[in-house]
Amino acid sequence: MTMTPFPAAALFDWYDRHARILPWRSRWPDLSPAYHVWLSEIMLQQTVVATVIPYFLDFVRRWPSVCDLAAANNDDVMAAWAGLGYYARARNLHRAAKIVCAAHGGNFPESRDALLALPGIGPYTAGAIAAIGFGASSVVVDGNIERVFARYYAISTPLPGAKADISAAYAAQHPGERPSDYPQALMDFANAVCTPKAPACNACPVAAGCAAAKAGTPEIWPVKAIKKPKPERHGIAFVAYSDTGAACLVKRPESGLLGGMLAFPSAGWTPADSDWNADAPLASPPFPANWTLLDDSVSHVFTHFSLTMRVAVARRGAVREGDKLGAGAAWQKVRPASLPTLMRKVWKLAEPVLINQSARHDND
Ligand code: SF4
Repeated sequence: MTMTPFPAAALFDWYDRHARILPWRSRWPDLSPAYHVWLSEIMLQQTVVATVIPYFLDFVRRWPSVCDLAAANNDDVMAAWAGLGYYARARNLHRAAKIVCAAHGGNFPESRDALLALPGIGPYTAGAIAAIGFGASSVVVDGNIERVFARYYAISTPLPGAKADISAAYAAQHPGERPSDYPQALMDFANAVCTPKAPACNACPVAAGCAAAKAGTPEIWPVKAIKKPKPERHGIAFVAYSDTGAACLVKRPESGLLGGMLAFPSAGWTPADSDWNADAPLASPPFPANWTLLDDSVSHVFTHFSLTMRVAVARRGAVREGDKLGAGAAWQKVRPASLPTLMRKVWKLAEPVLINQSARHDND
């Protein structure tokens, strides 16, 4: 079957007028350093560009090369990543940096197989590094590009089953020129013109051949499999605050939710602490204290579940900074920027109450 050609020339013409300026981007024939492409692509997984930019700039300022990142303290890397979410990405990022530095002399490998062998790099990221960092005509299909091709060819197989057809269309239609610009042009175009809702078909440079525009209902593509509602979980975070203005924080186990991140002690919300009883939320505190359960709670959505987290607070007048409270726990100043988003929300709720309690205590 003959495929309607995807008009790359019209796309490039649009890109030359509308390309976003991004700190990790170069324009063909210049290529971005593979380190920058890799870092930005890992950060952009599940995260929007506007959120990623300050993190990317901070990482390349702290660690200008992949070997600088490899040599960094893991706690510093996790703290710098805090707030970006999906913390397994940061753990894999640091592991991959060590491998690139030790096994590849600080240069990212160019072959797809060698890229795929690095922790945290899947087919999409390998394709993106090959195309954007090395100028290869590799297949690069993210959610944005999926949307454009699913619409242009009115691919009716629901995602994720349609991925193979979309990748095949991408490979068949690759223009062979400007290989680093091509996927980036498609991504910018998908973000600005072929948007998820209300695509601007009237101003679209590729509309003449677009099957979805001809059908008059472009929004129905890409067809998605019906999602099951996310299960709900409940838990509690315990925020204890000392006279010296320090809070009790723990470093979470390396594997699992918020792995390796600093967090307030908590209970009930992970498979490891399933015996927590939501009807008696204060029954399993990390240590004895005069705990007060706050009326408000924190909501947070993870990939596989939605969480409602109660928050308990307590003042601990007798502790000093540096006092140990068990494996991985310590009293330290709370720096919200080094906490994962869930724990920032917990702190936002707890901090005013604790400060109030401290003020009352000082006035006693
Ligand atoms: S015509 Fe509409 S649906 Fe088709 S590619 Fe352009 S913006 Fe997307």
